This record gives sequence, C-alpha cells and structure tokens, in this order.
Amino acid sequence: MLHATYKTGLVFFPAFDWAISPTHPEREERLLYTQDQVFEEGLLDIEGIREFKPELVTVADVRRVHFCVPNENRVMTESHFISAGGAKTIGKAVMDKRVDKGFALVRPPGHHAMRVVHGARGFCNVNIEAIMIEYLRKAYGIRKVAIVDTDCHHGDGTQDIYWHDPDTLFISLHQDGRTLYPGSGFPDDLGGPNALGTTLNIPLPPFTSEEGVLYAVNHVVLPVLDEFKPDIIINSAGQDNHFTDPITNMNFSAQGYARLTTLLKPDIAVLEGGYSIEGALPYVNLGIILAMAGIDYSKVTEPNYDPEAIRQTPQISRAIEKTCEQVLANWNNRNAIREKLYGSSEYADRSRSVFYDTDNLIETQHEQVRICRQCGGALKIDSSSDRGLHVLAVHVPSNACDECRQTALKWYDTADVNRYDMLFLQDRTEDKFLIKSATV
Ligand SMILES: [Zn+2]
Ligand SMILES: [Zn+2]
Ligand SMILES: [Zn+2]
Repeated sequence: MLHATYKTGLVFFPAFDWAISPTHPEREERLLYTQDQVFEEGLLDIEGIREFKPELVTVADVRRVHFCVPNENRVMTESHFISAGGAKTIGKAVMDKRVDKGFALVRPPGHHAMRVVHGARGFCNVNIEAIMIEYLRKAYGIRKVAIVDTDCHHGDGTQDIYWHDPDTLFISLHQDGRTLYPGSGFPDDLGGPNALGTTLNIPLPPFTSEEGVLYAVNHVVLPVLDEFKPDIIINSAGQDNHFTDPITNMNFSAQGYARLTTLLKPDIAVLEGGYSIEGALPYVNLGIILAMAGIDYSKVTEPNYDPEAIRQTPQISRAIEKTCEQVLANWNNRNAIREKLYGSSEYADRSRSVFYDTDNLIETQHEQVRICRQCGGALKIDSSSDRGLHVLAVHVPSNACDECRQTALKWYDTADVNRYDMLFLQDRTEDKFLIKSATV
C-alpha cells in the first residue's frame, strides 16, 4: 500500500451553487474534474492523505484583513465564507499537527481582493489566504509568513494587503503584466516604506516553460526564503500557467508544478486560478498533492504533454535570467533603497484608482502610512467608489508600536463623521473592529 512521507490534508469545496455566469471560466466544473481524478486515482486511500470538511469563516475573521464596504454580507456570498473557511480548516489542521501539510482545493479564489473591498476584482471578493493567515497569526501566535504566489496572474490583492507588513514576505511569479490582467507586478514594486523588500515580483515573459519558472524558484525564491526564515510557507497555487489554459499564454506543465512544489516545500497550498478545467487542473492538482505528500509523481502526465513542443526560446531564458538578477539585487539592497526613497520622512502617501473589472466599478484611494522602524506603521485609507460610498479605513498593525497605535486611534477619533459615509477602525493589537457613521 502507498504511504505518504508527509501526512497531507485536503479540503474540497467546488461551490456548486456559485458561478460568475454559466459560461464564465470561473465556474463550478473547475473542481469537479479534480475531485473525480483524486477519487479515481485512489488518493484518499493512501495512508497519510485525508480529507477535511471546510468550516465557515466568521465576520470577525474577515475583519482582521478587510474593510468591506458597506459590510461583509454585501460583498460575500455563503460560498466565499466557505472557500475562506476551507483554507482556515487546512491552516488549523497543519498548525495542530494533525497533518504535516495541506492543500485547500476551494473556490471562489481570492488573490485579487485587496484590503478595501467594494466588490469583485478578477473573480475575487475576499482574500482567502490572507483571512487564513491572519487567523493563524491570532490563534497560534505565528509571526513570519511567506506567501509564494505561483498563479499566472499577479497576486495584486495579496500584495496590497501585505504591502506595509515587514513580517510577511510576498513573492509573486506571474506572466508579465504588460501582457496579462491585472497589469501590475514589476521588479521595482518592493513594498511600502516600513516593509521595503518584503514584496518581490518576478514577471515572466509569455511562453515561459518549466525551465524558466523553476529557474526563478531556484535562483530567487529559495535563497530569499532561506534568508527570511518564515515560520510558515504558503503557496497561492494558481494552475493557470498551464500550456492549455484558455486565458493565459504560458507553457508550464503538471510535471513542472509538481517539481515546483517539491522545491518550495509549502506547508499550505491554497488553490487560486486555473481554467483549463479538463486538460490541466486534474493533473496539476494531482501532481501537487503527490509532491506535497512526498509520493512519486513521475507518472502524472496530462493529455498532449510534449516537453519539446513547449520548450522556451533562448531569448526567454535570457530575459528571465536578467529579471531574476534585478529582483535579487533589489532584495540585497533593500535597506539602501528604503533610505534613498524615504530617508527621514515622517509619512508616505499614495493615491491610486482601483478598477473592479468583475463588478465594473472604480475606487479612488488616498492612503497615508506613518513611517516607522518599529512596526508596520499606522495606516489610513480614504476610499470612495463611483457608486457613491466614501469611507475612511484606519488600520493598526498587530505588531504596532505605541506611537503608531496612538496615531491611528487619533485619526479614527478625530475624523469628521459627516465627511464620510462610514469610518472603520481595524485594531489588530486588540483584535477589534469598530464602525462609526453619522447616520447610525
Ligand atoms: Zn490566475
Ligand atoms: Zn510604529
Ligand atoms: Zn476622499
């Protein structure tokens, strides 16, 4: 009988009653084929691989991460509570040592959901990895977390949530934003003034094959993880780099994904995208599960797999080498870059607009963070959407120093309630969330 070297937990939640539309790539069948494959291959009969039933996250779990406008129940369906709940279930199973590793095969996905949520972006409403991570931080006291996002699309939502957090290393490998949604994620995007360098982006040219992805993992991801020394490694496992994926242009394979998992050794994987639902997802997910469990995956082959036919060109190899050099140089010079950009400034500001492509609305944000060497910094976000709601969101990071906490509380206490539809305070030092509004 087959035996898993690492006890591995799985959660399945295909969300049968949730789809953006019947023909949308993000629909129910995405996970049904994987589930069939896992049953047919007898994975759950392997000693050491077991299934867990997903629980639901609570509103309090969501409020550790997001400012939902106007509230959680308006931007989330029950499927979102269960999808994030499936990730939480796996996180708990790993932390409680009921398994060594775990994979949440759930949808809807989450990595395009940012800290403030007015609606859905890139098929995502709430960030299921971040909700899981902040639950684990609170419940188990873990501090340093690494998230490696291997979805083909830039994990811009996860990047946004952890932009100011020096304790969370976020590395995204993705198809170059000049050629794919959401159009962001370049090597010079390194995080905010209090966390510069703990965001790293590795854009890869279209038609990158396993050679290129694994090169970036070996030359950047692994050495940086080695230096950062996270308590836990999370893989945002998007399977849409596959050569058959209908909405992307990459040349990755199931063997490549399995090999990547073996190299990365994630404690937890959470499914993100992947829209080749019959030709890729069942094989890629199977390869990842076997690799996590430490079982031979060399026989996992999808239809039409021919490594020669999808081999990357020498130009692509050279472009990837150059990008990796640049990302590593930024990582090694992060302290000098921070000094140069922010020196002795007291606050840093940024203004931007965020397009919610799935819900077709535009948000305008003005953000201010207190520059601090002790903590992630007091953060306030003035946000309004073109649907009319205008809110002020104030965040106190969980490791906040006294001065940052006092600054944030003062922002919340002295803000003019008549100027905003709602004021929010997310105080992670006390794990509380407050709401003020002139009409309540
Ligand atoms: Zn994706
Ligand atoms: Zn501080
Ligand atoms: Zn405003």
